[in-house]
Amino acid sequence: MADRQTGVSAREQPPDVGELTPPDRTLMGPGPSDVHPRVLRAMSTPLVGHLDPSFVEIMDEVQELLRYTFRTDNRWTIPVSGTGSAAMESAIGNLVEPGDTALVPTNGYFGGRMASMAERAGGDVVTVDAPWGEPLDPVDVERAFDEHQPDVFGFVHAETSTGVLQPDVPELTGIAHDHDAYVIADSVTSLGGVEFRVDEWDIDAAYSGPQKCLSCPPGASPLTLSDRAMDKVLDRETDPRSWYLDLSLLEGYWGDDRSYHHTAPITNVYALREALRLVAEEGIEERWDRHRRVAEDLKTGVRELGLEMNAPDAYWLPSLNAVRVPEGVDDSAVIDHLLAEYDLEIASGLGDLAGDVWRIGCMGHSARPKNVEYLLAALEDALATQGFEG
Ligand SMILES: *Cc1c(COP(=O)(O)O)cnc(C)c1O
Repeated sequence: MADRQTGVSAREQPPDVGELTPPDRTLMGPGPSDVHPRVLRAMSTPLVGHLDPSFVEIMDEVQELLRYTFRTDNRWTIPVSGTGSAAMESAIGNLVEPGDTALVPTNGYFGGRMASMAERAGGDVVTVDAPWGEPLDPVDVERAFDEHQPDVFGFVHAETSTGVLQPDVPELTGIAHDHDAYVIADSVTSLGGVEFRVDEWDIDAAYSGPQKCLSCPPGASPLTLSDRAMDKVLDRETDPRSWYLDLSLLEGYWGDDRSYHHTAPITNVYALREALRLVAEEGIEERWDRHRRVAEDLKTGVRELGLEMNAPDAYWLPSLNAVRVPEGVDDSAVIDHLLAEYDLEIASGLGDLAGDVWRIGCMGHSARPKNVEYLLAALEDALATQGFEG
């Protein structure tokens, strides 16, 4: 835009932008979670090329660490460039072929995203229903299989929008395999946070994100496919609609050839490597236990404040706690107070639960007793400003 008086373009002056000084938040929303300092340090190490022999070694290490974290021997285990949705779209966009029937859940926000992606992949979408805030019932899944004979079945193991953990996973995969279907599991809010076992539970494809229970910045997202699932991908009659996420092409880079497809987000791969190294040092089962222990204290504390959890204990999700907003309390005023006064992030409800719940994450490096104590004290204060007595 030209200055009216002088006729000089504003672009000739460099913008006066100060040094980056983000606020020091405590992240206890639905993601991202607090990043471990070791991960931040890994991100400030020197860049190497994406085909550098040293980077090829790092790729191998990341793949090994991902297999450990997913509890799988799948050869096809890679970080996808992009956020969790990129890993999600590569699972769905490669496994769902035009004309395939895809069965997806309606019990949360991310099941809806699965439906959109399957539809864009050319699939015919059918649903298995449950209310927001409840898991899928295997009886309903079985009925949906009998009715629709889907080729692909997607489910969300940890629904971040509702704080529900899907139980009975082996039963669900059993139903799908009795019908020769492929199972895709959304493990974005479970991987590294709650028990999740790809091989033992017979899951064909699972995707995740780095910024939830792995406490790593977003940018490179875990994906694993069984040989059986990869055979379906490699036998497709038509190419997947996305070139960038086409797994048959990505095989050239992450498989044996290590040839160029696109430039990997090198720094994000470093970050993921360090985040996964932390998982390995802690031990995956110990890490699941820690999330459960720390979130159990959060749940107890929230109840002591006079609040209620949205999910019953039977399918409570430790990594994402949906807490009911009490009568007469303004949910967004509480969220704003926590952010302004305590630099503490939590989130509101989504979709069918908008206005009804707060979503409090207890993920990765944020799943520490110190954070829970801090959150409970801050929440008590925020509720008091709303006149809530408990
Ligand atoms: C966060 C999330 C995603 C999407 O991940 P992005 O990193 O935001 O793209 C998908 N599924 C679930 C269950 C999530 O919580």
